[in-house]
Formats: sequence, structure tokens, C-alpha cells
Amino acid sequence: MTTLLISHPSSLRHVTPSGHPERADRIRAVEQALEEERFTALQRVEAPEGTLAQVLLCHPAAYADAIIAAAPQDGLVQIEADTIMSPGTLPAALHGVGGAVHAVDEVMTRRATNAFSAMRPPGHHAESDKAMGFCFFNNAAIAARHAQAAHGAERVAIVDWDVHHGNGTQEIFWGDASVLYASIHEMPLYPGTGAPSERGEHGTIVNAPLRAGDGTDAFRDAFESAVLPRLEAFQPDLVIISAGFDAHWRDPLANINLKEADFAWATQKLMEIADRHAGGRLVSILEGGYDLEGLSKSAAAHVIALMRG
Ligand SMILES: [Zn+2]
Repeated sequence: MTTLLISHPSSLRHVTPSGHPERADRIRAVEQALEEERFTALQRVEAPEGTLAQVLLCHPAAYADAIIAAAPQDGLVQIEADTIMSPGTLPAALHGVGGAVHAVDEVMTRRATNAFSAMRPPGHHAESDKAMGFCFFNNAAIAARHAQAAHGAERVAIVDWDVHHGNGTQEIFWGDASVLYASIHEMPLYPGTGAPSERGEHGTIVNAPLRAGDGTDAFRDAFESAVLPRLEAFQPDLVIISAGFDAHWRDPLANINLKEADFAWATQKLMEIADRHAGGRLVSILEGGYDLEGLSKSAAAHVIALMRG
């Protein structure tokens, strides 16, 4: 029974402008929290750099080429409203892809029971051919396709509890019945998608929006009534979590009032699904979370749950 923690120092070298919420201190806060003694049983590894072939599992070559070409030698370039590249961004984004893929490799081959890839930039807003919302490559989506292409997984479930809707993941799998995408998020909020009526071509998109001001009870009710039954029926071979922690009450970008214990609870619920259908195989990938205390404490509670602590 091993939980794998995947990180890489390149996450710290993706620079955003002063005052930008998606900043290197997020990773420092998470890494510091996971240095505590209760995490000594974690198996720790540095992420390999992801390959272009892995990026192309979910993004067309013209898009990947454009991101590579846009990477600056110095200074910052604005790709889209709040989505900025520095010289360290491309290596960070590629290691994020590599970490997600490595997590899948280790979990699918049972060298680890589950894994948490704690890196930045995040991925779930990245559509197949569009960087947005601090995201360039969709790590969770690539992880799902890699599990299918390299390990023969037939059905993969991606559960996204980041407070923002994962428009990118939804777009990538809109017409793909082999991947269930379930998101619980605040609405209305950036990016504006995620209504329950958005169900995908095969009904394998599940959106369970919350309202500003909702907290533990509404989150757990929605999770139990809208998300878990669909996962149970889908019987995934692998569960992937798009683990954003910006639904925490302290977070400055949203107004959902979750506590650390809610993330531990949701983790346990998804581990139960994974235990019943996927031999326990679960991969978690960091997305958002912009209050350093809320993020680090929530990530710690999430990882303790993964360790079955
Ligand atoms: Zn978010």
C-alpha cells in the first residue's frame, strides 16, 4: 500500500506577474506541508519531462507547436487574458504532463496504489487547442488518454472538484464515451461553462454546480446525489481527480466554503469507488487553490486520506 508523491523543481520556475494568484509560492506551501512527519511513508519521486507525443494525446500538433514557439527567452508573454509564459513555463508545463503520465504508469502497473502529482501550471481549463485560465496542457485529460493508450484502460473517470468548471477537460471528452467527466464547481463563475444541461454526446459529462455561499452540506449532497451514482454505474478502470483546492473557505477567487475535512471526505468516497471497480487505482493531479494556508492544509488532508490515514 503505497502513495506516490510526484513533484519537480521546474514548477517553481514558471513565473507569473507580481500579484498573480497562480504563483510558485503555492507549490512551496504544499511541499512544506507534506514535509511533516506524518508524511514520511510517502514514496517521493521527481516527475520526468513529458514528451510531445504525450501532449499530442489531447492537443493537436499545431497547438503544441504554437505554445512551444510562444515560449520567451526572457521576460513574460501573455498568451491569453491571465495565462502568461515565462522562460520557465514550458519546462514546467511539460513536467506537469510527465508527472501525470508517470502517476498513471506507476498506478496502472501497481508499483503504487495511488499517486498525487503536485505541480503547476494547472491544466483543466486548457482545451484541445486553447490555453486559458492559467493552463497550457490538460494534464488530467492526457493522463486519462495515456491510461487507455499505454495500459489498456477501457473506462476512465475524471472527477474535478476544483471550484472552477474544467471547460478544457469537458471539451476534450465531449464526444468520448470512454471517459466520464464529472465536475462540481461554483456557478456562475469563471469560465462560465458547467451547467447540468451540458452532458456530452454520450451523456458522459456530469456537471453538478454549486451556488456562491454553499458549503459542506451542499457540496456533500451534490457529490453523493449527482457524482457518486454516475461513477458507480460507469465502473471505471481508473479514477483521476482534478484536485483543485479553491473551494476552500479561505480562497480569494471563489465563494464556496469547504473545510479541509471535506476534501478528505471526497477523497475517501472516490477511493471507495476505485476500490470497488478499479483495484484501488487512483491518480490525483493538482489544479487550483490560491490561499496558501487553505491550499496546503487541504492538500495535506487529501494526501493523508490517500495514505488511508
Ligand atoms: Zn480553480
